[in-house]
Amino acid sequence: MSEIPGFPRGKTFNVGIIGAGPAGTFTALNFLRLAREKGVPIRVVLFDRKEFHAVGPRGCNMCAGAIGYLTYEKIRSIGLSLDERVVRRIADGYVFHGMKNEARIYHPQRTGIYTVFRGGGPVMMTSPSYQSFDRFLLDECLKMGAQFVNARVTAIEREDGEFPPRYTVVVEGGQRESFNFLVGAFGVNTTISRKFLPAYQPPRTWHTCQAEIEVPSGYIERVMGNMIHLFSTLDRKIRFLAVTPKDRFLTITAIGEHVKIAYLREELRANPVVRRFLPADYEILCHCHPQTPVGCARNPVTQAAAVVGDAFTARYLKNGIDSAFDTAMTLVNAVFSGGISKAALEKLYVRPSVEKIHRDNRFGKILFQVYERILRKRALSEAYIRGVKKEGEDASREDATLTRVLWGIFAGDQPYSEIMREALNPKTVLNFLKMLVIP
Ligand SMILES: Cc1cc2nc3c(=O)[nH]c(=O)nc-3n(C[C@H](O)[C@H](O)[C@H](O)COP(=O)(O)OP(=O)(O)OC[C@H]3O[C@@H](n4cnc5c(N)ncnc54)[C@H](O)[C@@H]3O)c2cc1C
Repeated sequence: MSEIPGFPRGKTFNVGIIGAGPAGTFTALNFLRLAREKGVPIRVVLFDRKEFHAVGPRGCNMCAGAIGYLTYEKIRSIGLSLDERVVRRIADGYVFHGMKNEARIYHPQRTGIYTVFRGGGPVMMTSPSYQSFDRFLLDECLKMGAQFVNARVTAIEREDGEFPPRYTVVVEGGQRESFNFLVGAFGVNTTISRKFLPAYQPPRTWHTCQAEIEVPSGYIERVMGNMIHLFSTLDRKIRFLAVTPKDRFLTITAIGEHVKIAYLREELRANPVVRRFLPADYEILCHCHPQTPVGCARNPVTQAAAVVGDAFTARYLKNGIDSAFDTAMTLVNAVFSGGISKAALEKLYVRPSVEKIHRDNRFGKILFQVYERILRKRALSEAYIRGVKKEGEDASREDATLTRVLWGIFAGDQPYSEIMREALNPKTVLNFLKMLVIP
């Protein structure tokens, strides 16, 4: 029988996970699956304050809910199928809007982009007939044998003295439970991070703004062309604006260091390009101000405890659900191969994750800055978009370098270092310069 290195053989491995968003549920699913395969007795308890079937803020984990094909495939690889109960729409691709011109780009393999609700839907929604993404993942954990405590965690106590130490999780109302291994999957929109581990420091974040509007039936196909739209903005405090179609709603996401709802309302009113894609009498049904990590946590592990997902790190400004999957998978593999000592978790979990996500984000930050400048400057953005159109807006074509780089930065799954290499390729630079001088 294969056991967890350093953990007493035959004893039940008790895992407590704070947060049942994607990082928490992927961690639970992987622990349960691997323990079953290896014959290790395990108990997994998830804690979350949210009710993921509820509409509005009570059920929602505040995200645009776009899932790329690679993430979809990763989810399938652990035996789950995102079907019509969960997927609200399969968008065909992205439209990039300059101030005068636009280019539409499809996935290089012509696969769709899946859009989901993270909770029961916008506040005005009545009795949704579908399942939220987060509820779906939680239900799969319960089917595999996990337990769920639907309550806010208010304190964490550590009992030192013997190895491994035990952690006690205390929830609102006073219920307490002790664990051999504790996982912080609480994201970045919480204060529990201050009480998690003494040395843990959460990643630096940006404060974004998101709004939902309802559109008439057929509007998404007719006006949005069943695509996700990305706009350059008038207000520099909003670095990017995305509109994601979902069911009969549009999710409007404004990304920047500190975006207030007033900035978003004004942008929607004043930006003639965005305005064209909204109904004349649109109304914001609900809005939120979620934070997103733009750095990496300090001291994300200690003896018998680790943070995953956003609370640790995520890909710069995109694919957070994918990063949640990757960090969860790496953590669980690390525990089963190296055990739960701080040294083993550092070596097998922290280092590879930092290498894969945080180091790669340095290239992402540069690429986003350069492309933001290009897309904001009318002459440059028009030249770039002309180049993409000339390439046939088809990122799968060998010579479509401008298209592939644009897709890669905003939507693609490949590492930012690879996109950077392609952006700096003389062929890409030449293609762009040609568009600048030969309109
Ligand atoms: C505006 C915006 C748009 C985004 N769009 C996308 C997108 O389209 N696609 C994509 O892949 N990613 C997107 N992301 C990123 C994505 O939302 C996150 O990366 C992802 O949700 C991280 O998962 P997580 O499980 O680490 O954290 P979360 O999803 O934040 O989950 C944390 C969980 O912990 C719970 N929790 C926190 N504190 C406590 C406590 N004290 N007690 C009990 N429970 C607690 C919370 O209720 C929550 O359920 C977006 C992010 C933002 C800000």
